Amino acid sequence: MFQADVNDVPQLSFTGALPQDARIDQLVAEAHARYAGHDDGVVADYIPILAEADPAWFGLSVVDVDGGAHAVGDVGVAFSIQSISKAFVFALAADEIGHDTIRETVGVNNTGLAFNSVVAVELNDGSPMNPMVNAGAIATTALVPGAHADERWQRIRDGLSRFAGRPLALDGEVYRSESFTNHRNHALARLLQSYDRLAIAPDEAVDIYTRQCSLAVTAQDLATMGATLADGGVNPLTGERVVSAQTARDTLALLASCGMYERSGEWLFEIGLPAKSGVSGGIVAIAPGKGAIGAFSPRLDEAGNSVRGQRACAFLSRTLGLNLFASAPRGTHAPGAGTDPTAVKESS
Ligand code: GLN
Repeated sequence: MFQADVNDVPQLSFTGALPQDARIDQLVAEAHARYAGHDDGVVADYIPILAEADPAWFGLSVVDVDGGAHAVGDVGVAFSIQSISKAFVFALAADEIGHDTIRETVGVNNTGLAFNSVVAVELNDGSPMNPMVNAGAIATTALVPGAHADERWQRIRDGLSRFAGRPLALDGEVYRSESFTNHRNHALARLLQSYDRLAIAPDEAVDIYTRQCSLAVTAQDLATMGATLADGGVNPLTGERVVSAQTARDTLALLASCGMYERSGEWLFEIGLPAKSGVSGGIVAIAPGKGAIGAFSPRLDEAGNSVRGQRACAFLSRTLGLNLFASAPRGTHAPGAGTDPTAVKESS
């Protein structure tokens, strides 16, 4: 069961602007200090190279839509983006092929099952269900336009780099380690092919998907990538438009319902933000119009979500006023003051 561990933290409402920069810095540092000593969860090892991660790594970054960055801990440590790539490849694909096509061909509903579930595909007449589980992500990658595999891959790598505001590189060790062991993803791709649900050859789709998962990022990159979705598709650090505002909106809707796998409901209930996690320990959580949190810590819960990362996001969602569902009554909020007189402690 997911434990947010924030019942003693008052909820600041979403209404209004972010607090002042110095206050954000202070809260990011506080979130780090509060959870750095937590040792619950285990490092993923089903992709052999991931088991080499240091379980103590913990980096946190908040990038706001004005381009301000607030970072603490291991924010410079590079790790493979893994499933978080699904969010941004979805955005690139949707931007090219449109809202309706994605909805009809891949789907936009949660499976309620694990990220790599074969049963989910079988239970739904071959539908991959949504772009945030492996089956749907492989199907989405196959929809990225390109004359051949290399062109598709370049488009994905360049697109994700534009989200991050810097050129992202493939981690060759991760790519090879996953390529030797990703039998299940090959099985999922074949299964989709058998239902005529894959736009390109299964081996090619899995190879590009494995590459996108092997791109090396930092917590700082995740926060910037998320902040681009928070900023209507424009990267707040480079000023470049990466996707349309409609695509940014669609991506966030999907992340709210499907981004944290079968735990998406619990996550939304506790934290109230669209988010995406990956098995190397990254989480990106996005507050539309405000900014994004990038978190990295490799110890995972049973669903494959970073334990420290989830807790830090819960803390920041409350203290920075990021929970989308937390409103303050009209007239009680001082705009831009970053304080909320209605913030109350939870009773439980
Ligand atoms: N590349 C990983 C896989 O396909 C991504 C999974 C994840 O991050 N949950 O298994």
